[in-house]
Amino acid sequence: MFRVARLVPVPDATGQNVQWKAFSVFTNLDDLKGFPERIGSLRDRQLSRGKWEKARQEEIKFEDIDPTVLIIGAGHCGLQMAARLKMLGVQHLVIERNQRVGDNWRNRYDALSLHSPVYHVHMPYIPLTNAQVCLAAQAAKR
Ligand SMILES: Cc1cc2nc3c(=O)[nH]c(=O)nc-3n(C[C@H](O)[C@H](O)[C@H](O)COP(=O)(O)OP(=O)(O)OC[C@H]3O[C@@H](n4cnc5c(N)ncnc54)[C@H](O)[C@@H]3O)c2cc1C
Repeated sequence: MFRVARLVPVPDATGQNVQWKAFSVFTNLDDLKGFPERIGSLRDRQLSRGKWEKARQEEIKFEDIDPTVLIIGAGHCGLQMAARLKMLGVQHLVIERNQRVGDNWRNRYDALSLHSPVYHVHMPYIPLTNAQVCLAAQAAKR
């Protein structure tokens, strides 16, 4: 894990002395001990041999599974978290109050666009490789 903090000077009651305090802290979790990310040499190398669709349907039904993690909201962060947990092998369930995933983008105005460049807002395992520097909501909602 690494952390980056933004420090701001805060004067004491006398106004004579200044203390530096963390105004915002950014943390980044690299991995979970005991749950290696199934990428690279850890990828599943079994051929699906036509069983992928059935396995996916079972996964979607989510029956008889007790999730370790409940993710509230299938927005950008919720989906990113779900993708990572899946590759870490941690059982999780995402719940979303909207009818469809992406409605939080779909239901906004058409001209909506992220202001951050796409390399800041990549989805895990699915790099945004379209030519736009900033992703349009119409693209994001897909
Ligand atoms: C016009 C605009 C431009 C923006 N531009 C940028 C940008 O350029 N870069 C940037 O980083 N950020 C930008 N943001 C901020 C952007 O909203 C966030 O970066 C990003 O969407 C946050 O993702 P999130 O998953 O945390 O939240 P959200 O995208 O808000 O997703 C939260 C999800 O949780 C669901 N939910 C909430 N409560 C519940 C509940 N009780 N039960 C079930 N589901 C629930 C919501 O329906 C929603 O789908 C912008 C926002 C707006 C409005």
